[in-house]
Amino acid sequence: MRPKLVVGNWKMNGSRAQNATLLAGIVEGLGGAKAAAAVCVPAPYLQQCADALAGTPLAWGAQDVSEHAGGAYTGEVAAAMLADFACRYVIVGHSERRAYHGETDELVARKALSALGAGLTPIVCVGETLAQREAEQTNVVVGKQMSAVLALLDDAALARIVVAYEPVWAIGTGKTATPAMAQAVHAQLRSQLRERSAAAGEQVAILYGGSMKPDNAAELLSQPDIDGGLIGGAALKAADFLAIVDAA
Ligand code: PEP
Repeated sequence: MRPKLVVGNWKMNGSRAQNATLLAGIVEGLGGAKAAAAVCVPAPYLQQCADALAGTPLAWGAQDVSEHAGGAYTGEVAAAMLADFACRYVIVGHSERRAYHGETDELVARKALSALGAGLTPIVCVGETLAQREAEQTNVVVGKQMSAVLALLDDAALARIVVAYEPVWAIGTGKTATPAMAQAVHAQLRSQLRERSAAAGEQVAILYGGSMKPDNAAELLSQPDIDGGLIGGAALKAADFLAIVDAA
């Protein structure tokens, strides 16, 4: 059985004062949780996480990483720098980065490779827009996003990634994929992984993201191929985040 993982994506929210309260609240309530938990925070707050969370069960990470190892790339953050702040995870290919920063499937795959090279676990986000779902293109779109990663990573690297299926129309909208809709896409992703490598198919955690909340988490997380959640809005309140971790 794959262990469950719940990751908070804080997006561009927080302040030192707010973070201190939120992190302390999560850590306080996390004792005894069966699922693993992590927060992916804005880069300037990684040191705060390293100071507050070292030695606790709450892991931390970033929301993006450069495909480059270093050099003249103003504004970018290298994977080795994230590793320097003891990050365990980094989100790559979030739909907001694909939509607002023009990230392509191939760039997202290169970012995943760069993260793995520094010993980080990339959380590779895939998902379709509402128009694509309505045009019955979900499997094609998500399959193509995944294929770009399969093309670049060898079997050993592939087994070390985390995938997050996040239907774009469900992110921050209050609309959630039904458990059956989500499970169908997760099963497709898992068979795509399995076709390439049996180990990756078995080991890779596939998280669901898109308006997961305390009241819908348990049902989503009970699906056989949903191994956890990537949580946006509900990760900004300790009680909500902890309720989802408990549901996992
Ligand atoms: C996200 O941004 O990854 C996300 C899933 O957001 P929300 O939970 O707010 O829909």
